[in-house]
Amino acid sequence: MIRVAILGSTGSIGRSTLAVLARHPDRFRVAVLTARRSAEELRRQETEFSPRRVVLADPDGAAPGAEIPGTWETGRDALLSAAEDPEVDVVVNALVGFAGLEPTLRALAAGKRVALANKESLVAGGSLVRQAMEEGGGELVPVDSEHSAILQCMNGAPRSVVERLVLTASGGPFRGWPASRLQSVGPEAALSHPTWDMGAKISIDSASLANKALEVIEAHVLYRMPFDRIGTVVHPQSIVHSFVEFVDGSVMAQLGFPTMEIPILYALSWPDRIADPELRTFDPVRSSPLTFEEIDHEAFPLFGVGVAAGRSGGVAPAVFNAANEVAVQAFLGGRLDFPGLARVAEFTLERLAGSTAESVEDLVAVDTEARGVAAGRIERGVSPSVPGGES
Ligand code: MG
Repeated sequence: MIRVAILGSTGSIGRSTLAVLARHPDRFRVAVLTARRSAEELRRQETEFSPRRVVLADPDGAAPGAEIPGTWETGRDALLSAAEDPEVDVVVNALVGFAGLEPTLRALAAGKRVALANKESLVAGGSLVRQAMEEGGGELVPVDSEHSAILQCMNGAPRSVVERLVLTASGGPFRGWPASRLQSVGPEAALSHPTWDMGAKISIDSASLANKALEVIEAHVLYRMPFDRIGTVVHPQSIVHSFVEFVDGSVMAQLGFPTMEIPILYALSWPDRIADPELRTFDPVRSSPLTFEEIDHEAFPLFGVGVAAGRSGGVAPAVFNAANEVAVQAFLGGRLDFPGLARVAEFTLERLAGSTAESVEDLVAVDTEARGVAAGRIERGVSPSVPGGES
């Protein structure tokens, strides 16, 4: 019986993970559930799955009047402790943003498998994550559909026979739109993704293609592939989840209708596969046609900004991630326009170009500073529509 902890169980990935686990009670037991603020949903999940341990990380943020049982642990330290719980085998990290880094490090240092949906932790702290994995003996299995596809296509092949990785991108809700039309798009339009049903942060990242930049960096860290050998292509149907091209010209792809339950189940069962009739829905005719196109860099400059940050290395990916997290919140709150997302990231990267980080504490300090710089830039007005703005 594999004992599973789900960090962020009330979010989109957390709920999908529970849907998968509910179908396989003979293989998995839900041992730990954590949520940030959604006390009511967490209680419902506790009743259904009877975990041994329940954590509400931010009880002060819970809805007024929400009941918090005395058996629950609360606070950030409880979350970190749950990530290294000795009676857990697999930690599903479905937290959003940089806040997921320390739980990833704790779980890897404690020798656990981390099924990672929190790509920000790899982007920001790639070398620290690698170090924690090597020292603690933990293993990292991606939940992100593109990286799961690559893992499946590589199928244990050595890196030396891989020529190139090609990540697919849906293109998001604004695919094909010219830059001029993107000036005035609001959060609602950006949140309505054509193929994937996801949380708010990743939906905005998908619309701006920041998500794909984060995923290029994620692939670089996970598969130790140089940036020159990681390509991207827009594939609106989201059926091909990525390609791996080998040195002999052969290309493998992994396909399936877009549901996160497939990569979640694979991350839990890897390197084995577990039968799940519910997920066997693929139909090539219904998938037709499959099309591919280039990314429009002029309309989606944030992609290039993010990949350039990845190439620069050091703390640049962490700075990019922090600025983007702040900018996404401002965009969702109506305080920043869509083109402003890229300007905030560029500005923050320029400001913090000289920073370095050797430890997780350093990295947290850089993250905090980058958030301050990004927030200040947004407050002063970053958009070209603001007369006299610095843009
Ligand atoms: Mg993805």
